Amino acid sequence: MVLSNATILDFSTLSRRPAVDVHIQANRVRRIVPTGAAIQLDAGQPRIDASGMYLIPGLVNTHCHTAMSLQRGAAEDCTLADWFNRRIWRFERSLRPQDVYWGTLLGAAEMLLAGVTCAADHYFHMDQAWKAYRASGMRADLAWAVFGVGEDWQRRWAQALEFSREYTRKDPRLTVSLGPHSPYICPEPFLRRTAEAAEELGLKLHIHVSEEPVQVERSLAEKGRTPVQVLDEAGILRPGTVLAHAAAATDADLQLIRERGAGVAHCAKTFLKFGLMHDLLPRALAQGVPVGLGTDGPASNNTLGIFEAARCAAFMAKSARADARTARIGEVLPLCHRGGEILGLAGYGRLEEGSLADLVLLDPRTPAMMPEHDVFANILYSLGERSVHTVIVDGEVLVRDGRLVHLDLEELARKTAEIASRLIRSAGEEPMQVYR
Ligand SMILES: [Zn+2]
Repeated sequence: MVLSNATILDFSTLSRRPAVDVHIQANRVRRIVPTGAAIQLDAGQPRIDASGMYLIPGLVNTHCHTAMSLQRGAAEDCTLADWFNRRIWRFERSLRPQDVYWGTLLGAAEMLLAGVTCAADHYFHMDQAWKAYRASGMRADLAWAVFGVGEDWQRRWAQALEFSREYTRKDPRLTVSLGPHSPYICPEPFLRRTAEAAEELGLKLHIHVSEEPVQVERSLAEKGRTPVQVLDEAGILRPGTVLAHAAAATDADLQLIRERGAGVAHCAKTFLKFGLMHDLLPRALAQGVPVGLGTDGPASNNTLGIFEAARCAAFMAKSARADARTARIGEVLPLCHRGGEILGLAGYGRLEEGSLADLVLLDPRTPAMMPEHDVFANILYSLGERSVHTVIVDGEVLVRDGRLVHLDLEELARKTAEIASRLIRSAGEEPMQVYR
């Protein structure tokens, strides 16, 4: 396949390379040449006319709970404790494995249409999520969320381990991590066991940490250490570990995270919705901590798009510091791709010969992208997802002309509406865990 006459945009240098033809063979970018230079195409290989469009590497959602798309809009205008205890953890008691398949497929459809080619998903029944990602064509890292306490946790942990062993090398596009929920729910011996299992099975880790200052205060009072220090002592902080949020991490915690080679998934919109302002982003960037952008689940964040996550990240940082010069375009846009490297996909987010062919064509011919004083400002602050024209993952076109090639939106709408109403109807009184 050839994408002809494209303009490549580089978010890390805010530079452009106009008039190039990009030759894709199997799942890799083979050659990038000036438009018009001869490229030998095998018979039947398609040529996509990218004239007037911008070509970028695919975006990475570094932390999400994709199948929570089923609970989108069902827990609004409440505190974080009520969100967990009175809504989400009641609804999730009646979640069936097959629900996760449909919820994940819906989320994958949404992500692809938003130019997201890779997601780090942390949820339950990941064997079902795996099937959904496989069907969608997206790239994903799957962590089966486990609490390590509460009713039936041993059986769930055994399920998660069995999934991890069985699925880790089934499809090179789909990798597996272990997903302990958080240091405020998981007991320390369980965190240590999880880290040991990750070491033994050669898996990465994905966990929530230090979402609110109260979690840090309580951890210091009860354990004498911050939640990040607790994770470090348990062996959880290591290369490939995704730490979701870390909003209330101290500067010393951030230094520890960087030294251990872990990364942070920054999900600003969820916090803005809960009214929780913080300045994690500028602090983490100043310390050189790898930061990727995430969306958390659609039950709190409502969407799974990374352009919107980038925009919210910039708003949050500027507001938290009361300084418009904080979180500049050139600092925020590269984070759209950085989750790939945190997940161990070397070179993900760079577009060069040999790169994985996970690519997005943006069509700027919409009013919100005109005029073009600064295309990068337009992308961060005014682009609508309708500008996402073509999405390619692993060398395969999954979105063409703004439409999904393989997925049937009508079927998705019907299935997920049925499941969503059942989850609310059959919610028990007691939550499956208690957030305090
Ligand atoms: Zn989360």
